[in-house]
Amino acid sequence: MTRLIVVSNRVTAPTGAGGESVGGLAMALAAALREYSGLWFGWSGRTTPEFTGQLTVQRAEGVTLATVDLEEADLQEYYNGYANKTLWPLFHYRQDLTAYDRSFGEGYGRVNRRFAETLAPLIEADDLVWIHDYHLIPLARELRALGVKNRIGFFLHIPWPAHQLMVTLPGHKDLVQALFDYDLIGFQTQEHVQAFEEYVLSEAGGTRLEDGGMRAYGRTARIGAFPIGVDAEDFAQLTRSEAARRTFDVMKAHTAFRKLIVGVDRLDYSKGLEERFAGFERFMADNPDLRREVLMLQIAPLSRDQVEAYQEIRARLDALSGRINGEYADIDWTPVRYVNKTYRRDQLAGLYRAAQVGLVTPKRDGMNLVAKEFVAAQDPEDPGVLILSRFAGAADQLRQALIVNPNSPEDIAEALKRALSMDRDERIARWKVLYDNIVTEDVTAWRDAFVAALSGARETPTPED
Ligand code: UDP
Repeated sequence: MTRLIVVSNRVTAPTGAGGESVGGLAMALAAALREYSGLWFGWSGRTTPEFTGQLTVQRAEGVTLATVDLEEADLQEYYNGYANKTLWPLFHYRQDLTAYDRSFGEGYGRVNRRFAETLAPLIEADDLVWIHDYHLIPLARELRALGVKNRIGFFLHIPWPAHQLMVTLPGHKDLVQALFDYDLIGFQTQEHVQAFEEYVLSEAGGTRLEDGGMRAYGRTARIGAFPIGVDAEDFAQLTRSEAARRTFDVMKAHTAFRKLIVGVDRLDYSKGLEERFAGFERFMADNPDLRREVLMLQIAPLSRDQVEAYQEIRARLDALSGRINGEYADIDWTPVRYVNKTYRRDQLAGLYRAAQVGLVTPKRDGMNLVAKEFVAAQDPEDPGVLILSRFAGAADQLRQALIVNPNSPEDIAEALKRALSMDRDERIARWKVLYDNIVTEDVTAWRDAFVAALSGARETPTPED
């Protein structure tokens, strides 16, 4: 029987309890692993003074988890370095924040080699191997070098940047060439597929094949868009949980007679939080009669706080939210509530449901799951309105949202005004189409489509072919 091996930078133990903050992705992958009696491999989250290659194997909720510790230098160069100071900013169109330090590239290569050496002995003849995200692009190449001939698929959760941006990365050729050791390369949207194809056609002299694949560097790979979804029906059910109801009640009590605008994002410069705050400020400046009727709640748990760019955006947002409140707050009302805490999924479900507007305005985002979760959590009889950036992958599917340019505070302010005054019939009509979409294209559909495409991919040519 075919087994599935999933590889990602971090392994998140599935807990089974829907409310835990482990995301829909971890749940969906865990479900697939159970079906295929598979294995999930990745970094344990721990560091040791020296790399040992020692595997820790546990069973959780019917899934086998195999993790390995990394050494401190690996963490600095591979994770904080190449992954989060080089690839993340560049792939999110922030060339200004992209660091090109040779040691980062070396650490990235080293960790991918170490992952391969630890993982290869666990792979059996018929296994399907599914590797996730920008941390692990060269992993197939390293596995091939160790003689692994299985089908290996790669899915990129973040955007693939435009060709002109990609070529600014030193070593870009090597990185793209490494992708051709996969049988299947999956992206979030057609735009990312096109950007990748354009690179391969013009930089690598590659050709398009009839079956949706490409040939370059003497290899062929299938390429496709597989927009990731959420566990939409489960998330909708979560609004009935006790924690969701409690959060809903608390929010309703705190926003009595006011409308709630909610944003939920990791604190990341790609999420457009400064422009979002500025958009809300503009809305208040332009609508003095409406301003006291609203309240904006921004949840922004800290992330990657060892990276300077994240410390800087944090400081700017602290100042901005403070300034807006200083200017507009009254003895009985503070317009912006800005919270750096992490909330559980069941709490978020209650929060989304209590909101009249979901404000999701990333400057670039591979997909954006919060947008889909917001839709899932709405009351079908009286749904809130989603405002969504055109630069989130989700905008391809969620067309009945109010689509905005996240770089324009004016655009955001106008969308807020429109959302807050939208009549119930229009809200319901828009929401229905959105909800149908997220239920049809949910996380299970995404996973099944990818695994089916990988199973159907041609036999892997060996590296010598
Ligand atoms: N999330 C959470 N608790 C929080 C904030 C976010 O569980 O306090 C979850 C959120 O529900 C979503 C995920 O984190 O499932 C964020 O995914 P998204 O695609 O929106 O952004 P990313 O963080 O992957 O860039």
